[in-house]
Amino acid sequence: MSGHDFSNRAAGGWRLEHSYAQLPSLLHVAVGPTAVRAPRRVVWNRKLAEELGLDAAAWARAEGAGAAGAEGGRRTAEIFSGNVLPPGAAPLAQAYAGHQYGHFTTLGDGRAILLGEQITPSGARFDVQLKGAGPTPYSRAGDGRATLSAMLREYVISEAMHALGIPTTRSLAVVATGEEVWRQDGARPGAVLTRVAASHIRVGTFEWVAARRDEAALRALVDYTLQRHYSELVGAENPALALLGAVIERQARLIAQWMGVGFVHGVMNTDNMALSGETIDYGPCAFMEAYDPATVFSSIDRDGRYAYGNQAQIAQWNLARLAEALLTVLHPQEEAAVALANEALGGFEKSFQRQWLAGMRRKLGLFNEEPEDLALIEALLTWMHAAKADFTNTFGELETLGATEAGPGSESGSAKEFEAWRERWRARLARQSQTAEEVGRLRRANCPAVIPRNHRVEEALAAAEQGSVSVLERLLAVLAAPYDSARARAADVAEYRVPAPDGGDGYRTYCGT
Ligand code: AMP
Ligand code: MG
Repeated sequence: MSGHDFSNRAAGGWRLEHSYAQLPSLLHVAVGPTAVRAPRRVVWNRKLAEELGLDAAAWARAEGAGAAGAEGGRRTAEIFSGNVLPPGAAPLAQAYAGHQYGHFTTLGDGRAILLGEQITPSGARFDVQLKGAGPTPYSRAGDGRATLSAMLREYVISEAMHALGIPTTRSLAVVATGEEVWRQDGARPGAVLTRVAASHIRVGTFEWVAARRDEAALRALVDYTLQRHYSELVGAENPALALLGAVIERQARLIAQWMGVGFVHGVMNTDNMALSGETIDYGPCAFMEAYDPATVFSSIDRDGRYAYGNQAQIAQWNLARLAEALLTVLHPQEEAAVALANEALGGFEKSFQRQWLAGMRRKLGLFNEEPEDLALIEALLTWMHAAKADFTNTFGELETLGATEAGPGSESGSAKEFEAWRERWRARLARQSQTAEEVGRLRRANCPAVIPRNHRVEEALAAAEQGSVSVLERLLAVLAAPYDSARARAADVAEYRVPAPDGGDGYRTYCGT
């Protein structure tokens, strides 16, 4: 449709479509949000609203003083709490299954409700979903709600990931409900997060359809996913195989990007892996401080299944579950289908290795390739592990890192070891034609100066729970420009670069809060 009036103020810029609702009915159920008592906007994302074509100017006016502002603010809070549906909404919950910690379960949106797909002024399609909007037929024993701190946590980390240049779902708003939710630690303030995603199609969505043995629905889902995320592959001779290969490639790239910034997802169940290649479902995730491949934050991940260093292997395991779900549509004969699946899955490791290595080269300022680069990178990581060096700051300061900054091990032989490594690195840099300035530019664009450090995130969430959002707003502003190293040296930003006193060792995160 052309000539659509995106400045349509009356509709607030909403232009919702419902392509997912056209898929076979085993994939969704119509259900609306449950109203909340006293919605109050805590934080919203004006820039994202603008990108979506929403009338963000009205939001800004709403922030202003006066009766009109207060009225606008109330309306926004009503919409993003689920109390009032935006024009054109047709809410539904999506069905899916998933392997959680290796075990198959049927799940579905137990506390999330899709309002529809917003068509942006440039014609892109994004799911707009309310998370924590009340029970659905898939809630099982859950209350359908979410805590303010968990929703703010998703807001902060997802927006930080976006600023880091990593594909991710986005966060449009967090609205406090004025209601309490009961969790292990007692009554906590509740909230609704508005999540914006390329789609919410998960590996678990395919597992759900495969488990129901509905081949027509499976084909429909394959075609829909190709159409929505891999339109260049529509019309492929073997659509399921084309989809599998493309998803494998995108996941390999995504996990390599996570590894490059020290991100630990924390709960890489197959229901938390999106076919779009976006990072999704921010629960117990956190950023590693001191480098250690065994880093785990999630309180329930006792065996370290989802540890930092296991993420590529787990992604491949999840993709194997996707391949299994696709078997019947990969090839009519099972043996041939399995062979096709295995061949595609075999591409993951190579692709991941290639992308990881390319990312690490950029972090070191390397423009060309030498066979010994892998050994050079591994030597640095080995040193960082032994010295308990901060992952982010070490990469950021390779040129200047001094004996005193070189981590707790610097008293021993560790500083000398680092010096030896640095000499090796300098010699390597000298073997390429780029100037020091070019090297610096490449490194700065690939070594974030700031990441959402766990103690700073917790501090912001705690203040917000007490009713003060200024700490959170400041953190969000700092995280919005992670590669601006000049700004990062300014005193007001520099404090965000300081690691947790204990290297983040005892930090624990929780699922489903
Ligand atoms: P997660 O660990 O957040 O990916 O959630 C796993 C599953 O549990 C999903 O199906 C969620 O919809 C569901 N779930 C999590 N928290 C709740 C809740 N408070 N009420 C209902 N369902 C929930
Ligand atoms: Mg999930």
